Amino acid sequence: MHVIEMTSEPARPGDRDTVGGHPIMEPGQPWPACTCGARMAFFFQIDVPDDVAIFGGEHLLVFQCPVHNEPNFGPAHLPDRYWETPSGENDMVHWRILLHRGGEASDAADEFLQPRRLVLRDAGPDDEWDFRVGGEPAWIQGPEECICACGAVLRFLAQIPENFGFPKQAQAPEQDACFDFDAYGLLLGNMIYILACPDRCHPAAAWPANQH
Ligand SMILES: [Zn+2]
Ligand SMILES: [Zn+2]
Repeated sequence: MHVIEMTSEPARPGDRDTVGGHPIMEPGQPWPACTCGARMAFFFQIDVPDDVAIFGGEHLLVFQCPVHNEPNFGPAHLPDRYWETPSGENDMVHWRILLHRGGEASDAADEFLQPRRLVLRDAGPDDEWDFRVGGEPAWIQGPEECICACGAVLRFLAQIPENFGFPKQAQAPEQDACFDFDAYGLLLGNMIYILACPDRCHPAAAWPANQH
């Protein structure tokens, strides 16, 4: 497993491990929009290291609506197209997780978060609760299982710690209900476990499980 560290270096178009900036998208992949219609903020992207089980070699991207910041609590059996279809306690889908191989830097850039380079380093035993990819999840409330609409059991890919702030651009509005005036958080600052379909039935077949 690998810890994901934010640097103070600005991200450039074509960088593949970033907060904000230019997402590496598949050809024809539209910029994700919330159920409310808003163009989503682009939080981060990484190349999943080759030694990560199942998903090694994929490119991971995480987006969320700049307006909507609710947690995500869904049913164990996810409905068809759950990445755009509200389910469980959610009346909208305000996040999007994409996984694909290859791709090219989008001409468009994110307008909400400061573009920063990310670096990945090997994780040690003290890094269990960090922002990281691969390995086993550090569950706060015990393991959760989710079943993809295709029938596959989703598998752990990455986790984002509680109240993890992504520095915002100066002109971007303050995020609703955020723990930090100068940053945006994902899913109201809950601990996030990114679970993804091991059969890769769709580029967006991934689910952010929340615990706190
Ligand atoms: Zn929205
Ligand atoms: Zn699936």
